[in-house]
Amino acid sequence: MYDVLIIGAGPAGMTAAIYAARAGHKTAIVEYGVPGGQAATTDMIENYPGFPQGISGPELMIKFFEQTQTFGVEMIYEQVQSMELTQEIKKITTNMQTIEAKVVVIASGAKPKLLGVPNENQMRGKGVSYCATCDGFFFRDQPVAVVGGGDTAVEEAMYLTKMCSHVTLIHRRDQLRANKLAQSRALANEKLTIIYDTVVDEIIGEEKVQQLKLRNKKTDETSLLDVNGVFIFVGYSPNNDFFCPELEVDEAGYILTNEDLSTNLPGVYAVGDVRRKKLRQVTTAVGDGGAVMHAIEEYLAD
Ligand SMILES: Cc1cc2nc3c(=O)[nH]c(=O)nc-3n(C[C@H](O)[C@H](O)[C@H](O)COP(=O)(O)OP(=O)(O)OC[C@H]3O[C@@H](n4cnc5c(N)ncnc54)[C@H](O)[C@@H]3O)c2cc1C
Repeated sequence: MYDVLIIGAGPAGMTAAIYAARAGHKTAIVEYGVPGGQAATTDMIENYPGFPQGISGPELMIKFFEQTQTFGVEMIYEQVQSMELTQEIKKITTNMQTIEAKVVVIASGAKPKLLGVPNENQMRGKGVSYCATCDGFFFRDQPVAVVGGGDTAVEEAMYLTKMCSHVTLIHRRDQLRANKLAQSRALANEKLTIIYDTVVDEIIGEEKVQQLKLRNKKTDETSLLDVNGVFIFVGYSPNNDFFCPELEVDEAGYILTNEDLSTNLPGVYAVGDVRRKKLRQVTTAVGDGGAVMHAIEEYLAD
């Protein structure tokens, strides 16, 4: 029986684990991959304080992991498949066993939806990005494209115009889905061009992204667009395959939390990218991981 069982060893889960174990609670993390989560998949993190020259994602995550081990966090390398969370003793079933805990912290993160075009995976980190806040700076004074037409795509395109030489927003429909205010700002921005009715058929480049092969859906006409980077915002989805049905989530599947990061089920908390929130970053994941401990302490004391 664990006091605190955390699902996911990304920055949010590892921070929660450090706080819980350091406070003397018997703590374990269940993780099906390598510790580090999404943050371990990026070459360079320049916006995490404490590293003025930036730090590689894997290096930063190794430091997080080492700190969990300093405080004796147990690692269980298994995949969570289902959870029973409504009783006082929570039961987490993995591919290997059922684990019991008094408190469960869900920190299973999220993943960007892929465009699914040739060269997308190979060019990831070489010009293909899913996060303008993270990678925009690497493309300062360079032309980039943004793919998508929703709120995120338009807001991120606007953000990129502050540093890139030009931003081309490519949208497959004849009008944007983003809210009207975002649309009017985008249309008024001289550094932003919007191309409608168009899809990306291929990302072209060898060492780095050089061009996008575009196709107009109405005319079938193809063209090439010179860019150094392409930011893809065609959706983002939480890792929620194993959530129990009683847990409240929003329409996209993100867990709903209160200000103290508790969910609608007593003793169950959600931190990091898996919960509904505005900004999904390492700093905000770490903030959640630390903040959740206050509510957990009160719950365990009761
Ligand atoms: C390419 C890329 C670059 C980024 N660059 C930056 C950056 O420069 N700066 C920045 O601040 N942010 C950056 N981010 C965002 C940042 O990485 C995330 O916001 C952060 O990692 C979220 O942390 P998390 O702990 O909530 O979730 P995650 O990092 O997603 O970790 C969740 C963990 O849960 C595990 N898990 C999921 N399901 C299960 C299951 N069923 N059983 C067991 N384990 C499970 C996963 O394997 C994963 O390890 C980047 C993201 C990406 C994808």
